[in-house]
Amino acid sequence: MPNTVLWREIQRHNFTSLKSLADFLELTPTQIKELDLHSLFPLNLPRRLAQKIPKRTLDGPIFRQFVPLIDEKIEKVGFSCDPLSENQARPTPKLLHKYNERALMLPTSGCAMNCRYCFRRHFAYETNKPGFEEELAYIRADTSLREIILSGGDPLSLSNPNLATLFTELEQIPHLRRIRIHTRFPIGIPERIDQELVDILKACSLQIWFVIHCNHPTELDVEVLEALKRVPAPLLCHSVLLRGVNDSIQTLKALFERLVDHGITPYYLYQLDPIAGAAHFEVSEERGKAFMEELTLHLSGYALPKYVREIAGQGSKTPV
Ligand code: SF4
Repeated sequence: MPNTVLWREIQRHNFTSLKSLADFLELTPTQIKELDLHSLFPLNLPRRLAQKIPKRTLDGPIFRQFVPLIDEKIEKVGFSCDPLSENQARPTPKLLHKYNERALMLPTSGCAMNCRYCFRRHFAYETNKPGFEEELAYIRADTSLREIILSGGDPLSLSNPNLATLFTELEQIPHLRRIRIHTRFPIGIPERIDQELVDILKACSLQIWFVIHCNHPTELDVEVLEALKRVPAPLLCHSVLLRGVNDSIQTLKALFERLVDHGITPYYLYQLDPIAGAAHFEVSEERGKAFMEELTLHLSGYALPKYVREIAGQGSKTPV
């Protein structure tokens, strides 16, 4: 079976039924009452991540990141469905243009897993229109653009042939220099980094930057790290500061050290975007700043990500 089929086949077996996951995790009826069985942002969890969740508990970094809890119904002032006003910066259905010289393409709405704190959990993706005609026309017309960021949904949800076609289209635009891929796919399904994908990345004449999204050291197991080693591009990591997941010095230090040990540069630590449904993940900026100050005393400069937040309408990320 070719690998391209293998990762799709694995993805097909993701947990998407909360009832099945509750059985798998041996949750008690009382614990099941804490789950949000009717969330509009559904459960989508690769088996290998589910296997990292301890049984009979509602706790732990993997459980909290991926399993819908009734806590998501908590309403908090300032938390909304479009906290970054992305719809104001959307010149075409699958493209956001927020920053100078860079534009962000949303080539797909699909992800390997659904992260409960995702700031696009309410985003109205364009899913009816195939292809990227309008987006490519926009990129061709704006000669100030240098970099195209492929973001999520997860761009590695695209098939290899579709990715290769998109790369070929982008390569033909003379003012572009770089493609940046934002992905969480290898954390859930490392098989996605198959030889065909590696060959496509190698063959691309534009420079590629590969940015993974990872929040806890337990996500970086041997298979994930082996897969990432095959990526023929500089590797960076985005993380989000999340209550009950990584809000401790020990966890953040272990995460950043593990990344650096494996040649991955911790790039940004994000303050949580105030997206409706994720208020229970919020860590105050004061605590975040205290973590960073303490970490500065222990980690080399290259192991410390920039602690930033995104503010709607600002031309770049804002340091916290
Ligand atoms: S992988 Fe990224 S885009 Fe997809 S749900 Fe998670 S945070 Fe959102």
